[in-house]
Amino acid sequence: GVPQLPPRPIAERRLSRRIDVGQVPVGGGAPVSVQSMTTTRTSDIGATLQQIAELTASGCQIVRVACPTQDDADALSTIARKSQIPVIADIHFQPKYVFAAIEAGCAAVRVNPGNIKQFDDKVKEIAGAARDHGTPIRIGVNAGSLDRRLLQKYGRATPEALVESALWEASLFEEHGFRDIKISVKHNDPVVMIEAYRQLAARCDYPLHLGVTEAGPAFQGTIKSAVAFGALLSEGIGDTIRVSLSAPPAEEVKVGIQILESLNLRQRRLEIVSCPSCGRAQVDVYKLADEVTAGLDGMEVPLRVAVMGCVVNGPGEAREADLGVASGNGKGQIFVKGEVIKTVPESKIVETLIEEAMKIAAQMEQDGVAA
Ligand code: SF4
Repeated sequence: GVPQLPPRPIAERRLSRRIDVGQVPVGGGAPVSVQSMTTTRTSDIGATLQQIAELTASGCQIVRVACPTQDDADALSTIARKSQIPVIADIHFQPKYVFAAIEAGCAAVRVNPGNIKQFDDKVKEIAGAARDHGTPIRIGVNAGSLDRRLLQKYGRATPEALVESALWEASLFEEHGFRDIKISVKHNDPVVMIEAYRQLAARCDYPLHLGVTEAGPAFQGTIKSAVAFGALLSEGIGDTIRVSLSAPPAEEVKVGIQILESLNLRQRRLEIVSCPSCGRAQVDVYKLADEVTAGLDGMEVPLRVAVMGCVVNGPGEAREADLGVASGNGKGQIFVKGEVIKTVPESKIVETLIEEAMKIAAQMEQDGVAA
């Protein structure tokens, strides 16, 4: 068997209260979950369920759907019933859709205190309905739609303003004894966002949903989210995450999972340790790494595969990995668990690595170390 050390997490987690979003626990030490949001019209039930199925397959654990119209509200009960993962209805502006979502059996409802008019008067009723149905509420504050009173008070969406909005809203629910709440305070600037979550974490014990809002296209959004979530999660802050990208939602999920794996907040799956290449490389490292990555796509076991361009760091890294190759002189030395098991011509490196990876994976699965 292959001995596996349990991953060492980045930090002690902040102690938050636990809520249950459908079957997914959030807070209270539960694993950090990854969520995303559909881009279909929610009223188009078929397209929405199709996208939710794709998101589920990509590892998404909780999905949010927008609910801007009555047709969308009408679609919620079918979507909530047929989705394999918990569905959160995302409500802006109209309190009536909050009630509709709760009654439709959504696993949670997200409300934005900044833009639901007369929301404060409705909190008692909402808290009552949510309690009756066991539906948690996410208080989702967003810099772009901050409560006007707070915008006037602070001049702009500062961390203090975001936190005050969230805690004010939470206090209204608390007045009615309702604490089944999680909170987000999103901003598009990671620095402001990080500070807001730090302040919020210090001032309440609600589970926190991390997000950098409007993070941008895939490259920029990935980096902004990774930096911001990395900073917070390394302080133990954050119970569920959503990466926002101007890209298909399954991409958000991939990035979210990778962030958690990078921080050892989740068992790593396939990890390709490939060198950046340099003037010493004796093989096209990029191509080799891409081909190995593609060949092993979908592998569910925590396998570390080293792809090294030459024999300087090659054998060392290859030895640290479960499996690896160090190239040189048109050949590849294939390492398994630190031992050179064979040397193959360059043209056979990819297929040999994939073959050996499959063997190790099968053994790992047998030993029950699947991620
Ligand atoms: Fe350069 Fe070799 Fe290091 Fe790759 S392993 S970066 S080729 S020295």
